Amino acid sequence: MTTILKSNKLQNVCYEIRGPVPERARQMEEEGQRIIKLNIGNLAPFGFDAPEEVVQDMIRNLPNSAGYVDSKGLFQARKAIMHYTQSKNISDVTVDDIYIGNGASELIVMAMQGLLNDGDEVLVPMPDYPLWTAAVSLAGGTPRHYLCDEANEWYPSLDDIRSKISAKTKAIVIINPNNPTGALYPDSLLKDIIQIAREHSLIIYADEIYDKVLYDGATHTSIASLESKEKDILFVTFNGLSKNYRACGFRAGWMFVSGNKKIAKDYIEGLNILATMRLCANVPAQYAIQTALGGYQSINDLVKPTGRLAKQRDLAYKLLTEIPGVSCVKPRAALYMFPKLDPAIYPIADDQQFILELLQEEKVLLVQGTGFNWQQPDHFRVVFLPNLDDLTDAIARIARFLENYRKR
Ligand code: PLP
Repeated sequence: MTTILKSNKLQNVCYEIRGPVPERARQMEEEGQRIIKLNIGNLAPFGFDAPEEVVQDMIRNLPNSAGYVDSKGLFQARKAIMHYTQSKNISDVTVDDIYIGNGASELIVMAMQGLLNDGDEVLVPMPDYPLWTAAVSLAGGTPRHYLCDEANEWYPSLDDIRSKISAKTKAIVIINPNNPTGALYPDSLLKDIIQIAREHSLIIYADEIYDKVLYDGATHTSIASLESKEKDILFVTFNGLSKNYRACGFRAGWMFVSGNKKIAKDYIEGLNILATMRLCANVPAQYAIQTALGGYQSINDLVKPTGRLAKQRDLAYKLLTEIPGVSCVKPRAALYMFPKLDPAIYPIADDQQFILELLQEEKVLLVQGTGFNWQQPDHFRVVFLPNLDDLTDAIARIARFLENYRKR
C-alpha cells in the first residue's frame, strides 16, 4: 500500500504551542517527572476557577441542551453578546451579526475559509498567536507578517504594515490585548490602523479575547468602536468565555461583524454557509454566556493590584528581568510576557532545541519565540499562570539553565 500523506493544504500550517516539545513534556510526566508548565494559557488547571454561577447555569441547562440549536447560536446568548457590544460602544451589531462557535478558534478558521482565495494575503502580527497564521495558510492565503516593535511597547509598526500591503492584501489581523506580548494598544494607534485599512480597503479582524484581563487600571477599546460615521470598513471581532471567564474547556467563543456590512453581503453569506455546515456550536456552554456577561465580573478581582494574576505578573516580570541578558516589556494585559535573550550572551541557533534542553535539564516548559512566527531565535513566551511558589521555582530554574548556557 502507498504511504498515506497529509493534504498539501497543511504544508505551511503549524501550531507549536502544542508541538513536539510539549509532547516530550507529556512523555516525561508519564514517566513520573513533575514539569512546571509556563507554556499554555489554560487557566482552570492552575486553580483559576470559572465563575460558580456560570458552571451552575450549564449544569441546570444540561437537560435542555441535547438538541441542535440555531447555527449562529442560542438567541439569548447572542442577545447578551449584542448588549456587550453596546457596552463597548460598537454600534449597529444585531443578533444576526453574531456567530457563536466552539471557541474563538473555530470561528477564526471559519472567517479565513470564508474569505480567502489562493494567494490572497492577510496581514498578521509578528509575533502572533499562531492560529492566525495557520488559519490563513489553511485557507489558501498567504500570511504577511507585520512587525510589532519591542522597542515601542510591542505596538504594531505602521511603517511595516504599509510596506507589506500589496494588491492581494485582503485584511489585517489585530490581536489586542496581545498574545504573546501582553501589549495593550492605545486608541491613537487603533485609529491609525483604521486609516490604513480604509486607504487599502482591508477588513479588520480584531481578536479581543483578553479584553478584560487588564492590569494597572487599564481600559480596553474595541477597534470596531472607533469606526467612522461613513461605516466604510468591515470589522470582524472575536471574543469568548475562555480567558475572561476562565472557561477554556467549555469551548464557547463568538465573532460578530460590524461597520460596513452592506459591501460584505456576499462574504457574510459565506460565513452563514460555513456556520450551517457545522450545524451549531456546543450547546451547554451557550447557556452560560448570558450569565457570564451579565453577572459579577470576578476577573476584576484577579487583575487588581492585589489580585492573584497581577501579583504573578509582577513577580514573573521582576524575576525574569533580574537574569543577566534577559529583557522584557512589562505586560499590561493578558497572561503572557515575551522576554528577549541578548544574542551576544546567548547565541542560540535553534530556539526549539533550546527550549527542549531547558525542559530536559530543568523540567520547565516554555514555548520558543519562533513558535509565534518571530523570526529570530532570541525570544520565548512565559505564561504566568502558576502560583507564586511555582513561578519562583520555575524562574530560578530558567536562571540556572541560562547561567550554565553562558558558560558553555
Ligand atoms: N485568540 C487568542 C489571541 C488566544 O490566545 C486564544 C487562545 O489562547 C484564542 C484566540 C482561542 O481561544 P478559544 O479558547 O476561544 O478558542
